[in-house]
Amino acid sequence: MPPFKKIEKLRKRLNNLGNLALGFIFPIECFGCGREGSWICGDCYQSLEFKEAQYCLGCKKENRFGEFCPSCEQRYFLDGILIAGDYENELLSAAIKHIKYHLVRSAARELGKYLAAFLVNEINKIKVNAVDLKAGRIWEKLEDTQNVPGLFFSLREALIIPVPLHPRRERSRGFNQSALLAKTVAGRMAMDMDSGSLSRVKHKTPQAKLGEKERRKNVIGSFGWKGENLKGRSVVLIDDVVTTGSTLNECARVLKENGAGEVWGLVVAKG
Ligand SMILES: [Zn+2]
Ligand SMILES: [Zn+2]
Repeated sequence: MPPFKKIEKLRKRLNNLGNLALGFIFPIECFGCGREGSWICGDCYQSLEFKEAQYCLGCKKENRFGEFCPSCEQRYFLDGILIAGDYENELLSAAIKHIKYHLVRSAARELGKYLAAFLVNEINKIKVNAVDLKAGRIWEKLEDTQNVPGLFFSLREALIIPVPLHPRRERSRGFNQSALLAKTVAGRMAMDMDSGSLSRVKHKTPQAKLGEKERRKNVIGSFGWKGENLKGRSVVLIDDVVTTGSTLNECARVLKENGAGEVWGLVVAKG
């Protein structure tokens, strides 16, 4: 056997051994029911629900799309935040934690799928369907659209951008979970993604250690934009979890300074 073939064979064997060892330490089993084979099995995925009511993150008043209400919107650069699920849902919180703390990269694809399905569900809310037509609800529906934020009429033309990690943090973790989520969402929704132009320029105290006011101050000046002017294009910023919204809001400030139209956050859950 030629030497390169020997090496190839050895490499394959080592790889298999590596996978085996990894599988032994982290067996792939469903976060919901423990069944082996995938992080979220088909049955558990079916049982996942979307968060029914969205709300204004500023005053927590419920609304349909998570837009900021007229009295809160002056305080934010963001137009709204879409929260797909409930952090109280054990399956979702387990998936989020596993990706973040146990570095289970492949689980991000499952959550990305969930985010994409949620977006489709949101768009369907504003569509006039056959049932509405039959029930004579067309005028009601049309009148309704006056209150629908602009993003939802041209969602697929919006640009998907993941909330960046500081390069040093990303190196030590090996990946940015938001970028993995964003990639799946962009792929499933056939939307454009830009994961290189928005970057974290300052390494700050982790937000988790701070209260709401400190968070807002801490995050100012953390992000930079090195892409072209966005010329009014809407942006959907993707992150795993939102807490006070100050990180998303600071990203929105930078994006709008660089020409973005509407800027929305899309997250799996509120932490
Ligand atoms: Zn399951
Ligand atoms: Zn409000």
